[in-house]
Amino acid sequence: MKELKKTLDAGGHCILEMPTGTGKTVTLLSFFVAYRAARASIGKLIYCTRTVGEIDKVLEELERVLAYRRDCNVDVASENQLVAVGLTTRRNLCLLPAVKDSETREEADSKCRSLTASWVREGITSRSSDSLCPYYENLQQKGELFQIPPGVYSMSSLNAFGEEQGICPYFTARRSLQYASIIVYNYHYLLDPKISRMISTELERDCVVVFDEAHNIDDVCIETMSVHLKKDTIQRCYQNLNHLSGLVQDAKQRNAQQLLEEYQRVLRGTPFLATSETDALLAAPVLPDSALQETIPGNIRKAEHFLRFLRRILEYVQNVMQRNVATQEKTGAFLQSMASLLQSDFKALKFSSDRLQSLIQTLQITHLLEFQPIQTLADFVTILGSYPTGNAFVVIFEPYDERYPSIPDPLLQLACLDASLAMQPVFSRFRSVILTSGTISPIELYSRILMFTPVTAKSLTMSFQRRNVCPMIVTRGADQLPVSSKYDYRHDPSVVRNYGTLVMEMARIVPDGIVCFFTSYIYMETMIQLWHEMGIIKKISEYKLIFIETPDNLECTLALKNYRKACDCGRGALFMCVARGKVAEGIDFDRHYGRCVIVLGVPFQYTESRVLRARLEFLRTNLQISEGDFLSFDAVRQAAQCIGRVIRSKTDYGIMVFADKRFNRPDKKNKLPKWVLQFLDDAHCDLSVDMAISIASAFLKQIAQPFHADAGTGIALISEEQLLELMETNDKKWDSMEHSNYFLSSKVSQV
Ligand code: SF4
Repeated sequence: MKELKKTLDAGGHCILEMPTGTGKTVTLLSFFVAYRAARASIGKLIYCTRTVGEIDKVLEELERVLAYRRDCNVDVASENQLVAVGLTTRRNLCLLPAVKDSETREEADSKCRSLTASWVREGITSRSSDSLCPYYENLQQKGELFQIPPGVYSMSSLNAFGEEQGICPYFTARRSLQYASIIVYNYHYLLDPKISRMISTELERDCVVVFDEAHNIDDVCIETMSVHLKKDTIQRCYQNLNHLSGLVQDAKQRNAQQLLEEYQRVLRGTPFLATSETDALLAAPVLPDSALQETIPGNIRKAEHFLRFLRRILEYVQNVMQRNVATQEKTGAFLQSMASLLQSDFKALKFSSDRLQSLIQTLQITHLLEFQPIQTLADFVTILGSYPTGNAFVVIFEPYDERYPSIPDPLLQLACLDASLAMQPVFSRFRSVILTSGTISPIELYSRILMFTPVTAKSLTMSFQRRNVCPMIVTRGADQLPVSSKYDYRHDPSVVRNYGTLVMEMARIVPDGIVCFFTSYIYMETMIQLWHEMGIIKKISEYKLIFIETPDNLECTLALKNYRKACDCGRGALFMCVARGKVAEGIDFDRHYGRCVIVLGVPFQYTESRVLRARLEFLRTNLQISEGDFLSFDAVRQAAQCIGRVIRSKTDYGIMVFADKRFNRPDKKNKLPKWVLQFLDDAHCDLSVDMAISIASAFLKQIAQPFHADAGTGIALISEEQLLELMETNDKKWDSMEHSNYFLSSKVSQV
C-alpha cells in the first residue's frame, strides 16, 4: 500500500511483484477505495485481467472490501454511490439464446449486430418484431440518461439485473463505463487499438490503470499488433472482394445516393459513420494521430477504386506466398517492392482498415463474420503503411510449417517486435499505470522492454506464519549424472531415468496432487513414451492416477476435472502439463490439488523460430538487451509462473522443484522472484534426486505438525493492537529520521 500511495501521489507508473494468493487484489482494491475517498480528484480505477473468471474474482473481492468498510463504519457516503462493473464479451453478457449460444465471440457479435444495427432498426416499424432484440429495444426506451443503481456488478449480477429489467446486460455495461468508478475488463480492451478505440476512448486521463498478472504483457502487446495471413485467408479474401463488388454494384442501382454520401464524407475527411453504439466496428489496428489530419488519398475514395486497390494488393500478397523459400524483410523493403509492382505509392495503405469499415457500414452489412478475411488483409496493410520505416516490424514468409517440412503451408506474418508500441499510448494517456504479478522479475528488464521509467519498481516478499514453501533446485540424479532438458542431454537414458525417478519418488512421498511441467508437448510425449518403456509410468501409477494436458480445450478440461476428483477422494493424482500451456497460465492448484510442483527443464522458447530471432535482434540493437539475458528472463518467468500455481494463499503449502542443472547458475537463479528466493537456501540448491526426496520428506513431516492460526499472529497476521503499536513505532522512526535529516541538512548548509 505504501508503494501504491507513493506512485499515485507522484502521478507516475509502477511495477510491483507480489506473490499470487497473498492478498494482492484485496490490497489494491482496499487502497484504491480509501485513496479515492480521501482525494476526490482521482479518476476511475480500470482493472485489467486476463480471463472472465478473474474479472468475477476481482469484483467479489471488491464487494468484500466495501462490506468491511461499512462494518467498520468508515465514512462511506461516496461509496454508497459507487458503481463497479465487469465488462466482457456479448457471448457472456447476452440474454438472447440464439446469440449467446454462438460458438465464437465473432459469431455472437455478428448475430447481435444483425438485430441491433441502426439501419435494421430503422427499417422495422414494430418494436416487437422478431428481427430485433427485445432487450436492446427496452434499453433504448429507458433513454440515454438511464443508469444502473450503485453497486458491484459481476457477470452474473449484470445478467440477473438485465433479466429483471428486460434490458441488454452487454450494452448496459458498456454505457456504464462512462459513470462507473471501477471498471474491470480484459487487457485487450485497453491494449488492442482495434478494441480500445471502440470501447475505451472516453475514459479520462485521471484514471488509474492496473494490469494484473502482467508478467506476459509484452507478449500480449506484440500479439495485438501482429497479423498472420494463411493460404485459405487469401482465397476467402477473393470471395469477399467479389461479394463486396457485387454489393457496390447493387447499391449503385438501388440507392446510388448512399455511395455518393459516403464519397462526400471521405472527401470531407470524415468517412466514419459511428452513428450508434451497435454500428461501431473494430477500429483500425493503428492510425497515428498525424494520419487523422491527412486527407484520404484520391485512389481509394470511391468504393470501386478502393476495392480495385485491395484486389491489386491481394494479388501481390498471393504472389509472395507462392515463393518456395522462407524470406524475411523489413517493412520498408517489402513496401518498396510492393509499390514498384503495383505502380502506386503506399500512402493509401494506412487508411485501408478505416476505409473498409466505412464501406461495410455504408453497404449496411451485418454478417461481419464472413468478411473477417478481408478485414485481416486490411489490418495487415494498414500496419505496414503506418510503419513504413524503422525496425519495429518485420515481414516474414515461411512456405512450410517447420514441424512438417514436406507439406506446403505458406504463412505470411507481419510480426511486431516492439512491445512498447501497444503499451506507450496507455502510459501516456493515463495518470498512473500499475503492473503487477507474482513473477515479474527482473523488474529492471521489464521496464526496458516496455520502454518506460516507473516511479516505483519493487519486488515484495511474503510474510508466512510458518515456512510453508519449499523450493529446491535439483541438478543431478542419484548416480551424480546431471539432469537437464538441454537438447544434447534430453534423450540421454540417464537424464530420462533420473527425471523419471524424481517424479516417481515424489509421487510416492507427497500426498494428494502433484503437477509436473515439461518444456513442450513434444518433449512431454517423448518422456512419457520412454518412461513407459522403462516401467516408470507403471510405478508412478501405483501411487497416483496420471492425467495429461493436451492442446484440445475440451480434453484438457475433462482431464482437470477428473484430476481434482482423484485428489478429492484421496487417491492422489499426477498432472503432466507444459510450461506456456493453458494449465501453466490460468489454472490454480491450491490446497490438496497441488502439494508439489516439478518443472522438468528450463522452458526456453523455440529459438529457431524466425519471429523470435527477429525479436532478439531488435532487443539487442534497440534496447541493448542481449539474447541470453532475454531468453533466460523469459524462461525463468515461465518456470516461476509454473511453480506459483501451487501456492494460492497464506495457509497453503507446497514443494517446488526446479529440475535442471542450469537453474543453479546465477543468471537463472537470480532472476527468480524474491518471494521464492527468500526460501531458497543454499542447502536447497544443487541437489541430487535422493537429497531432494529427503528434504521433501522432512518438509512434509514438519508441515504436518499441529499448528494453531494464533501462532502466526504478529508475523503474517496482526491484531488491531499490534497494528497500532506498529504505527506508533513507525511514527517514532519517522520522527527520528526527520530529526536526523534536519541535523544533516543543517550541517550541510553550515558547510
Ligand atoms: S443487444 Fe444484447 S441481448 Fe440483444 S443480442 Fe445483442 S448482446 Fe444479446
